[in-house]
Amino acid sequence: MIPSRLEHKTVELRLRHAWTISRNSSREKRNVLTRLRHAGFEGWGEAAPNPRYGEDAESVSAALQALAPELPDDPGRLDAILDRVETALPSSPSARAAVDIALHDWAGRMSGQPLYRLLGTDPGRTPATAQSIGIDAIPVMQEKVREAGDVPVLKIKVGLKDDRAILEGIRAVTGKPLWVDANEGWADPEQAVEMIRWMQGMGVVLVEQPMPAADLEGARLVRGRVDLPLFADEAAVSPADVPRLLGAYDGINVKLQKSGGLRAARRMIDAARESGLKVMLGCMIETSIGITAAAHLSPLADLADLDGHLLIENDPFDGVQVRDGLIILPDRPGLGVAGEW
Ligand code: MG
Repeated sequence: MIPSRLEHKTVELRLRHAWTISRNSSREKRNVLTRLRHAGFEGWGEAAPNPRYGEDAESVSAALQALAPELPDDPGRLDAILDRVETALPSSPSARAAVDIALHDWAGRMSGQPLYRLLGTDPGRTPATAQSIGIDAIPVMQEKVREAGDVPVLKIKVGLKDDRAILEGIRAVTGKPLWVDANEGWADPEQAVEMIRWMQGMGVVLVEQPMPAADLEGARLVRGRVDLPLFADEAAVSPADVPRLLGAYDGINVKLQKSGGLRAARRMIDAARESGLKVMLGCMIETSIGITAAAHLSPLADLADLDGHLLIENDPFDGVQVRDGLIILPDRPGLGVAGEW
């Protein structure tokens, strides 16, 4: 058998606006793309490393460099390969995702089937996606709301300071339902309860990661005193986290780059379902490779926040389309992503 080849390269992505959340701010993002070649077909993947989970482009590249010669020759043995990748890279979830996505893309292209058919998901049941509005000067945040067009729901980043002024500023320009994501920014449960109650009056319908991920007791306390559903993001990294979240959260935000790819994300979705937790499918700032991979899984989610590629000015690829918040899956084989790798 001809050995398969796994290559990788770093891409510099320019963002349309500076991207600011409670813990950091950036104008560019460095992701790592993968390409698997075997038997005349290619599979493309992507790692969107996040310092919150201990990764950057260098650590991901080093992990992939070490892994590539160890990969079995037949990429069709997807489960066996992913088992091996999980063992080899336990603390590099986005590097695992980059391999997982490339293997799935290759399998789809090899069999001539779009990925949703391989996954058994229904392209007619994709949820609408929210669009995220990063923290900025209020007039800039208002401009981002206008740029979001007809998306049905906005996810507003908060958790720095001036959260009330931000919500008032957003409300001045839109009547849409709002989700807020504090990215662990409210350290004190009392402050979180007060803020969430006030925000409910401002038309907020969902709150993501109000408290630090480790503070499950605080989240339980807050949840008992507010009416809005609380979603875990930073507290929900892998399927093993799910049972601990019961009682503290109403739902989880599943991301391929946190859990380690499509297979792990699906396991996390299944774990959430078994526990009665709602599922949001989210993303990092990723090109159309990573976002399209998640989009193929999105019919399994209740809610979606798959707008990471829309924040990028120089996305080298074209895949899933988002029209007024509606996720439209490509029909081409594999991910269905086009462009120059
Ligand atoms: Mg979040």
